[in-house]
Amino acid sequence: MNVQETVKKFLRKSSVLENMALNVYETIPYDIRNKLLLGPAFVRWTMLLKESENWGPGRFRDYQFAQVKNILVHAAENIPYYRKTFSEIDFHPEKIKDFDDFRKIPLLLREEVSKSSVGMVDERLPLKALLLKPTSGSSGIPLRIYRDRAVDAAFLAFRKNILGRAGYIPGVREVMFWPMVSSGSHLSLPYTRFGNKLILSIRHLSPQWLSRFVKMIADFNPEHIMGFPSVLAVVSSYIKHENPAVFPKLKSVISYAENIFDWQRNLIKEVFGVRVFSMYAMTEQAVIGGECEQTHKMHLHPLFGYAEFMGLADGYKEIVGTGFTSQCMPFIRYRTGDVVTESSDVCPGCGRCHMVVDSLQGRINDFLIGKSGEIIPRLMPWIKTFPNVRQFRFHQEEPGRAVLFISRGEGYTDRNTEEITFWLDSMLGIMRDSISITIEFIDQITLPESGKTRMVTQKLDVRSFLKI
Ligand SMILES: [Zn+2]
Repeated sequence: MNVQETVKKFLRKSSVLENMALNVYETIPYDIRNKLLLGPAFVRWTMLLKESENWGPGRFRDYQFAQVKNILVHAAENIPYYRKTFSEIDFHPEKIKDFDDFRKIPLLLREEVSKSSVGMVDERLPLKALLLKPTSGSSGIPLRIYRDRAVDAAFLAFRKNILGRAGYIPGVREVMFWPMVSSGSHLSLPYTRFGNKLILSIRHLSPQWLSRFVKMIADFNPEHIMGFPSVLAVVSSYIKHENPAVFPKLKSVISYAENIFDWQRNLIKEVFGVRVFSMYAMTEQAVIGGECEQTHKMHLHPLFGYAEFMGLADGYKEIVGTGFTSQCMPFIRYRTGDVVTESSDVCPGCGRCHMVVDSLQGRINDFLIGKSGEIIPRLMPWIKTFPNVRQFRFHQEEPGRAVLFISRGEGYTDRNTEEITFWLDSMLGIMRDSISITIEFIDQITLPESGKTRMVTQKLDVRSFLKI
């Protein structure tokens, strides 16, 4: 049984007509099917997502076990990397009886993915037929992720479902802040518009462009605004201090791709006056998540992947994910590098039997290391107290010492440096003697290709300090 057959098996309420159309689709050979539009896979995921809203823990567990087994059997048959790994530990997927058996598989590190590269891709598929998505993430280790249309179909169905909790309906007016806006051969445009989407470049956040962007957004009158929380916070701060504006039809502001900090959420909410909704996804497609209608807790969707939590030092836990939606390049027991503290298997707010975690604490490499090797978590929220800071980044090369690079805004004075030093000291509290942070000014902090903000340039191997 493959991934889609399992989806079909767990789908009970789909209409006869829908099933007929899907069954015709199934008779088309895989490689031709692969070239067709997202259609049936997208429809089937959408239907299953809807049906599963009221599933209890037992049904989710059965579904997850069936999908885990599917992906393992497929990996053993068609993926050279897993075939080799499984044979080394004498592991036979078709014989697994429970999740304990599954946990005999070694964890997959990003370094291993980088090294194995196309050895992790389904050997039956020609690489040129796949989409290549390079990613560097905050760890800086580059990965080349391959995916096919089925992966995109699944992702779009889950995205629609999760954002639906924020009142989002695809096709309504939305503004997106995007790392690279291009049109044909024109690259790095400040903005573009097609249909009901207004896309604004995050490489154009100068005061002049911000002023134009705010007017454009107000005239466009969107229902939703989406962007990285770091960018949304910059825009919110500009609107609050320089250019008040109203957006009458706005229903939500959606943040994704980076961890959202409380100060960012509060600032965005204050300025836009609507719910700030955070979504969690990764190019590797190991897990996906989003908040619910009632709480800010991140719900990892059990239909998308199987999540485990690996204990780290000081009560932190790393999310380990096994994705169900990518057969062309599966990630099995993948250490995501995303760190949380609390997890439970039911949401106290909405009652869904999803794995819920407290808001993500950050990427592993966002931590600083004290002089005795202690972990210094979440320095970043303190930056909220620095009103005239345009950009900032911590840089660490040795335990116990770090540099805070600051790109100053127009109103920055020595008084701000004093405030920053004071706040760093008081927030470090008892860890004050563990690390010495010096401040240096630079004109501009360059964004990586992805546009994602890295809070810390960490040259130390943080994992070795987390005793893992
Ligand atoms: Zn919930």
